Amino acid sequence: MKEKIHPKYVVGKITCACGNTFQVRSTVGDMNLDICSNCHPFFTGKQKLIDSTGRVEKFIRKYGLKNKADSTSDKNS
Ligand SMILES: [Zn+2]
Repeated sequence: MKEKIHPKYVVGKITCACGNTFQVRSTVGDMNLDICSNCHPFFTGKQKLIDSTGRVEKFIRKYGLKNKADSTSDKNS
């Protein structure tokens, strides 16, 4: 390999919003994810709202709806 052009390839700890952690090797190092293979709907078979920017909450507040499908509280359980 040519010297001084390659980034460092290090072990990084990946932390998901669901609480799952695992290690990979990458050039980036540690990473925080919103979703991983442990909690993605494709793998769980359950529906889940990915609402990292709070747009669902904003919509509910704007139209005065009750948040009966409280998906943000039970997704981590
Ligand atoms: Zn996850």
